[in-house]
Amino acid sequence: MLLGAIGGHAAPMSVKRCERVMQDSRALLPPGHDGAAGHRGFVAERLHAPDDAVAAFFARAAIEPAGIEHVTLEAAPGRVLAHDARALEDHPSHPRSTMDGYAVRSSDGAGRRRIVGEVFMGSPPPCAVGSAEAVRVPTGGAVPSGADAVVPQEDVDVLEPGWIVLRGAVAAGESITQRADDVREGETVLRAGRRIGGPELGVLATLGIASVPVFARPRIAILSTGDELVDPGVVPATGQVRDSNRYAIAGALAALGAHPVQIARSADTEDALRAALRDALERCDAVFSSGGSSVGDRDLVPRIVAELGAPGPIVHGLRVKPGKPTLLAAIGRKPIVGLPGNPASSLMILEAVVRPIVAALCGERPCETITLSAVATATFEGRAGWTWYVPVRLRRSGDELEAEPLAIRSSQTSLLARASGYVTVDDRSGTRRAGQRVNVRLFSSGGAPIEAP
Ligand code: AMP
Ligand code: MG
Repeated sequence: MLLGAIGGHAAPMSVKRCERVMQDSRALLPPGHDGAAGHRGFVAERLHAPDDAVAAFFARAAIEPAGIEHVTLEAAPGRVLAHDARALEDHPSHPRSTMDGYAVRSSDGAGRRRIVGEVFMGSPPPCAVGSAEAVRVPTGGAVPSGADAVVPQEDVDVLEPGWIVLRGAVAAGESITQRADDVREGETVLRAGRRIGGPELGVLATLGIASVPVFARPRIAILSTGDELVDPGVVPATGQVRDSNRYAIAGALAALGAHPVQIARSADTEDALRAALRDALERCDAVFSSGGSSVGDRDLVPRIVAELGAPGPIVHGLRVKPGKPTLLAAIGRKPIVGLPGNPASSLMILEAVVRPIVAALCGERPCETITLSAVATATFEGRAGWTWYVPVRLRRSGDELEAEPLAIRSSQTSLLARASGYVTVDDRSGTRRAGQRVNVRLFSSGGAPIEAP
């Protein structure tokens, strides 16, 4: 049974974001774009700023966690609270001493007190404290009624057995934690949508909340596409490459709190891709594919997704670097994210653009992006009208962090492994030069550790 009250379901995570949409999201697909093969490349002016793209996605796709389950506190780390947690009791439930010492009445001032009892940990006080009396009390012990202060033992003299002498007067409330000082009955201590870690578990356990409702972890299918791909254990023939994206994407999704589900790789044929996407949609709450998301003849993902149902493709093509050939789509309530095939692009788009979609699937409450302020060691180049995600290597220099921009090479797999995070360069930030400050967002897994000087 729950001692604490758990109530107040999380608001659908998509609502707030939908309000941000300023335009009909249908306009985000280039006119004439029906996912058909033979479309002749992205038209730069019709590519979409990432914020608008994500807002359009949430406006068209009603994204919700797959369900709610109850778990014990042992199974709760990393999960997302599905209902508010409210305190049904005060904590502490009685005044407690913060010192080893003697509970006394402050109004008696300095001087002699007769010791009339002793409080033991885990037990109620044996007696009250009267005028000119003292009760010995340990740190954390319950303060007896009648006492309004605790004198630390180092502030008293023991001149004869059974008596103490206070060297000075003690103020009311001194060395006492009052009832409800920590949490008050009725207070909402954790809101729905909060990811549960150490601090959250501590407060839940303290309030007697032994099991909690959490959102089901979203099962996200990972689907690699490409005739050239082979498994990591295989030596690639000329023209083949090892399928790194499926592992990179799985790692990032796991760090974001989702449950990655590996789907058999798809060849670059319509039939194979259709079958793979259908299988993935059936088994999972969302599908993240990589490769085949651009506008060439072999880029089948947008076309096949368009066949599978409504709303289908919502945004195709972002005005970003890396990661322009990105598809945001949904079939019913299930998102389909078509990530680019290039390894640095797919992972960067997942981190920088798609993260709120994963958070919404997890049931997390939308929150501010946390960044570290660092000093640029070289120019962070951008391009007017575009959003560039520049990977950075961080190092400490005295009291400062220094951010070294790494050249954006979409096809590299080592690029993001060498970076701790990235800096967003757009029209708002402008180009940042050496010596200027940049805001660095760390990768979901923490990225490359910051080098010590
Ligand atoms: P695509 O977007 O399918 O044209 O792929 C662009 C580039 O990314 C090609 O060089 C692919 O070989 C590479 N690529 C696609 N999928 C993967 C993957 N799963 N792992 C590693 N590289 C990939
Ligand atoms: Mg491909």
